[in-house]
Amino acid sequence: MHYLILSDIHANREALEAVLRDADGRYQETYCCGDLVGYGADPAWVIAWTQSAVKLVVRGNHDKACAGLEDLEYFNPSARKSAEWTREILSEAELAYLTALPAGPLATEAGTMVHGSPLDEDEYLLQERDAAEVFDYLEDTVTFFGHTHLQGGFQTKRHRAKRLPPVPAKSQSNVMEIEPEWNYLINPGSVGQPRDGDPRAAYAIFDSDKRQVEYFRVAYDIAGAQSKIRAAGLPANLAERLAKGQ
Ligand code: ZN
Repeated sequence: MHYLILSDIHANREALEAVLRDADGRYQETYCCGDLVGYGADPAWVIAWTQSAVKLVVRGNHDKACAGLEDLEYFNPSARKSAEWTREILSEAELAYLTALPAGPLATEAGTMVHGSPLDEDEYLLQERDAAEVFDYLEDTVTFFGHTHLQGGFQTKRHRAKRLPPVPAKSQSNVMEIEPEWNYLINPGSVGQPRDGDPRAAYAIFDSDKRQVEYFRVAYDIAGAQSKIRAAGLPANLAERLAKGQ
């Protein structure tokens, strides 16, 4: 089975459409590690697509914030503004959908899904030591996570962790074999707001038979996403950062 693994779509329709065109025909099921909305200008479209096409999704901190489940005081001003805007334009039914999204960890056939870390959906796994510290809490050989918007992740063994690289800037994809003696924390990268210096939309495909993960990057219509963010009156830096991948 081939699973399309997505995270941090952030209401970026242009990026998601490019991912779906690029991945077309190469997967059977889609899983998402959360943050469907927030930052971008197309939350309703992304929610509708998720409802029709995604088999399993765990909620992200922005989904919680937009649903009104989280205090916005810990959000930076741009994130807060976009959460308030998203809340205003979504329908009751769309907000109810966000409210009902399950918190991770969520066990699936492919592996465990979390937004931030297996311990805390809001925790950022940024460094090798962060990954090593959650080793005891990994319920599966493979755990998928997001939240950092950094493609790659970590492989861990007995509280040791090694970083997994993202797709190199001049490539479209890279393959990683799952080695039996390691556990894996796989971050597909962010579809809608990459922060690893590569502005291309990120995703991954997990092949559960061959036990391998292929990471991908795909160029998308950044200018289109930016002009919608500006037209919606969202903070300008949310448009600008898309071009930098930061
Ligand atoms: Zn996010």
